[in-house]
Amino acid sequence: MLNFINRFRRVDGSASTFSFSRSLVVLQSDDWGRIGIRDRGGYEELQASGIQLGEHPYDSYSLETSDDVLAVKDVLKRHRDCTGRSACMVMNFVVANVDFSQSALSGFRRIHLKYLYEGLPGKWLRPGLFEAYRDGIADGVFYPALHGLTHFCHRAVERSLRCADERGQLLQKLWRAETPYIYWRMPWVGYEYCNPGGGFLRKNVQAALICEAAEAFKKVFFTSAVSACAPGYRSNADTHRSWAECGIRVAQNGSGARIAPPHLDEWGLLNLYRTVDFEPAQRAVSVKACVQRAERCFERGLPAVVSIHSINFHSTLKDFRGPTLRALDQFLSALEAKHPDLLYVNDGDLYEIVDSGRLNGSRAPVSVTVRGKTKAMNQRAS
Ligand SMILES: [Zn+2]
Repeated sequence: MLNFINRFRRVDGSASTFSFSRSLVVLQSDDWGRIGIRDRGGYEELQASGIQLGEHPYDSYSLETSDDVLAVKDVLKRHRDCTGRSACMVMNFVVANVDFSQSALSGFRRIHLKYLYEGLPGKWLRPGLFEAYRDGIADGVFYPALHGLTHFCHRAVERSLRCADERGQLLQKLWRAETPYIYWRMPWVGYEYCNPGGGFLRKNVQAALICEAAEAFKKVFFTSAVSACAPGYRSNADTHRSWAECGIRVAQNGSGARIAPPHLDEWGLLNLYRTVDFEPAQRAVSVKACVQRAERCFERGLPAVVSIHSINFHSTLKDFRGPTLRALDQFLSALEAKHPDLLYVNDGDLYEIVDSGRLNGSRAPVSVTVRGKTKAMNQRAS
C-alpha cells in the first residue's frame, strides 16, 4: 500500500496535494470515550461545591451512552451512497480517563489514569457502551481513530495539582465529583501535546504518550489506529513523526478560513483538513449553508470533511442528540439527492484511494489528481 505514496515522497516531500474525481464525504468526530460531568448527581455535586453550571454547552458535556451510540448508528446506517455503502463516522477516541479514587489516595497531587479497556472510573456507569461502539465498527458505520491518551496536558495539570493554588483547588473540587475538567472554564489545562505555559512538549515526551495511547487503543479495539487527531488540533512535526512511527497513516487537522486540500507531509502522513463545521450543540446549524460548503469542496475535487464533536450526540444532561440527528439526517439526504456520484468514506478509505486510485476494488473507481511543485507530479493515479 505504501508504494504509491512513497513514490510521491521521493519526488517531492512537501508539496503533493490531492484532488478527486468524485464527491467524497468524510465525517470526523472527536472526544469519544472522554468523560465530562457524570450524570445529574455529578452535576448537582458540582453545583453544591460552588461551581455555577449552565453557562456554556460544555457545562452539559457528559459522555455518550449506549443508546446515544445506537441512535447515531441507526441514522448513519439508513444513509447509503451510490455503491450501497452506509455513511461512516470517524470516531476519535481518548483512550484513558482520570482515575479519581487513585488520585485521591495521593492527596490529589498526582494524575492516575484508568485506560478505556479497563472501564470507566469510580461511579461512572455506561452499560453496554463498549459493545455499542464495537457493533457500529463491525457494521462499518464507525471507524475508530486515535485522539489521545488524555485530552489535557499532563504537565499543566500536575503542576496545578502540586501548587494547590486556586487552579489546584478547582481541580480538586471537580475531581471529587468525578469530572476531570471543563475546558472553557480552565484553558490552562492545555491540550495533550501542548502546555499553554511552555509550548509543545519535547519530542521524546510526545513519543512516549503517543506510543502508550496507540497500545491502549489496540487493547480496546483489537486493531491498530490508522488515523489520528491531536487534542485541540495542537500538533507539531514531532507529533506527526511519532504518529508515523506508531503506524498512523492519516493526520486529521481542524478547519480554517481557507478550504485546504489533502496533502502528504514529510513523514508520509496523509493530512486531511476539516471543511464543514456541523456542531449544532454549540451553534445553530444551517443545513443549506453546510450543503453549499460541501459543494464548494466537491467543485474543487476535494472531500467534504465534516467536523461533528461527540457532545452533539450526548443526551445525559441535555438532549443534544435529538436535534443533531434530525439535522444530520437532512444534511446527508440533501447531499445524496444532489450528488448521485457521492461516496461515503473514512480516513482509511481516503488513504487507500490516494494509494491505489480506487476503493474496495473496482466497485468505486476514483481518479486522483496529484499536484506538486514539479511537472512530474501532474499525473493521475488511475
Ligand atoms: Zn477533542
